[in-house]
Amino acid sequence: MRKAQAAHGVSIIEVQADAQGWRQVLPSRYARRITAATPMRISGPAAGHAMMRTAADPSGTRVLGTINNCAHGETPWGTYLTCEENFIGYFNGPDTPDAHGKRWGLRKGGSGYRWHEFDERFDATRHPNEPNRFGWVVEIDPFDPKAEPIKRTALGRAAHEGATVAQTADGRVVVYMGEDARFEYIYKFVSRDRVKPGGFAANRDLLDHGTLYVAKFNADGSGEWLPLVHDRGPLTAANGFANQGAVLIQARQASDALGATKMDRPEWTAVDPISKEVYCTLTNNSNRGRDGRPGVDAANPRANNTMGHIIRWKESGDLDATRFQWTHFVMAGDPSLPRAEAKGNIRGDIFGSPDGLWVDPRGVLWIQTDVSTSTLGKGDYANLPNNQMLACDPTKGEIRRFLVGPRGCEVTGIAMTPDLRTMFINIQHPGESPSERSDPDAPTKISRWPDGGRPRSATVVITKNDGGVIGL
Ligand code: CA
Ligand code: CA
Ligand code: CA
Repeated sequence: MRKAQAAHGVSIIEVQADAQGWRQVLPSRYARRITAATPMRISGPAAGHAMMRTAADPSGTRVLGTINNCAHGETPWGTYLTCEENFIGYFNGPDTPDAHGKRWGLRKGGSGYRWHEFDERFDATRHPNEPNRFGWVVEIDPFDPKAEPIKRTALGRAAHEGATVAQTADGRVVVYMGEDARFEYIYKFVSRDRVKPGGFAANRDLLDHGTLYVAKFNADGSGEWLPLVHDRGPLTAANGFANQGAVLIQARQASDALGATKMDRPEWTAVDPISKEVYCTLTNNSNRGRDGRPGVDAANPRANNTMGHIIRWKESGDLDATRFQWTHFVMAGDPSLPRAEAKGNIRGDIFGSPDGLWVDPRGVLWIQTDVSTSTLGKGDYANLPNNQMLACDPTKGEIRRFLVGPRGCEVTGIAMTPDLRTMFINIQHPGESPSERSDPDAPTKISRWPDGGRPRSATVVITKNDGGVIGL
């Protein structure tokens, strides 16, 4: 269990380019590990809330660790935001969870990590508030190795995929967040204060004050950002929201009460720095339209949505606007499939389950796919045996394959140097195989990437042979 906890979290490493290419700087004064056991602070409106207090932390302001870290964000003051995605699976729940536990997916045994058998804080039958201390966006200062990570509760609690940061014209931050779970929501946080020059020291509390909104996509192509503010609309004490902390900790219940749109697993969001259009990948949702589950709606129009889609909107004014106009950027799919709802409308190369998403500084949209290993090469994915990364000029709309990953992987994470001559991407879990996955002494046979032994997740550095700008 300790080994597993140490393998969770975030690594800060320093890399440098020299004549031979990119290398890790060792030793580095920045290098450190943040794990599932690293002490961190809880800040914002839910810090100290009764629902955040535990036997080990009666103050409700201190927590150990961050888990299931998925995508990320970068702030204008140089800090890194990591997101806690499927955190509930680490907790053992009671035979019959209460309504709050049930809404967040708490169940007996969790997802099978078994940490609760050796570390009692993961046993929610003994420490029922411990799960409330996860599901937050965590701010990390990579330039100060002594700086404690901070869980920013003003941004709301969710199975966060990522936290994409942009700025209004007057310098406030806007953070777009998707909750990667079936029938969950897209959020936006707008800060109260403007970013000040001076790095993290000058912006230490910026993410503690602001307004959190959830998206509602109307059938006529308009949309609304509904505020998650205590005592506004249905978010009252009578409905279970005693104060702003209760609204943020129970963000899913608050979004339900507001009538926000239940989406097909929102993953990454991206803001086009030129057009200011915002994109979100909706990776898939095979439960859409099933008995007892929500049916199709305008924004999520396909039942059994195996292929996923990308939605795009433009705020009505600056990025802090509370109304927007939306459209489907693309419905992923494969035109050769017999099932109408899996054909899609891609112009260019076929793909499904879009996940990673980024618009680079010149406006090129990069799309990374995460088709489940159990699905790759089968059924609707018969013609897609591997995950991949694609590129698109959104002003033209044609989507072209840029690279294909090794077998059994997911392609995720993207960054470029400012000169656009080096790109970094990640290959996650190469060689994953549903039939072979659990024997550590018998590495999978389907991939030996990257170095011929046991397959390992790794970062790939991409440059052009002529050293030129990538994508031209
Ligand atoms: Ca995800
Ligand atoms: Ca993802
Ligand atoms: Ca995914």
